[in-house]
Amino acid sequence: MRRRALTFGRTGHIWWAGVALEEALREAQRAFPLETGGLLLGWSTRPGSVLISRVIGPGPDAAHQPTSFTPDTAWQEAQLAQAYAQADRRLQFLGDWHTHPRGTARLSNTDRATLLRIAAHADARAPYPVMALLAGGPMWQVVVRQQISRRRPPPRLTLHVWQ
Ligand SMILES: [Zn+2]
Repeated sequence: MRRRALTFGRTGHIWWAGVALEEALREAQRAFPLETGGLLLGWSTRPGSVLISRVIGPGPDAAHQPTSFTPDTAWQEAQLAQAYAQADRRLQFLGDWHTHPRGTARLSNTDRATLLRIAAHADARAPYPVMALLAGGPMWQVVVRQQISRRRPPPRLTLHVWQ
């Protein structure tokens, strides 16, 4: 009966490939003090156990503002298709990453809505979407959360960087 408490607790872990994390941090720094972000790809066998192997950036025609950005979705979709083809379709779309320049790592109302929207979107194939926030700059705090239940705020995952 209380078994579900395990996945809802602070027991979740995320492993982020060092090169992919560095790519996100470089993009965060490039766009600073404007917001940027993109997509997260990798593998997840169950909620609370996630591996990020690749990130996709905002794209060349993205529009960046201090507290929002609009990605170049055509470019992102092409990158996603290429990544899937290279990985022989073993890669999964995991969720989004974005920055909060000069901000905190708390989720905004928009962020919460985005997570619920991805979770509800059958085509996204991410029933337990991940959201990575890079907050601050030029020193960035990295916080990754995963929407595990519709009814509860997404818990933080413990971040491990693998090389
Ligand atoms: Zn946000």
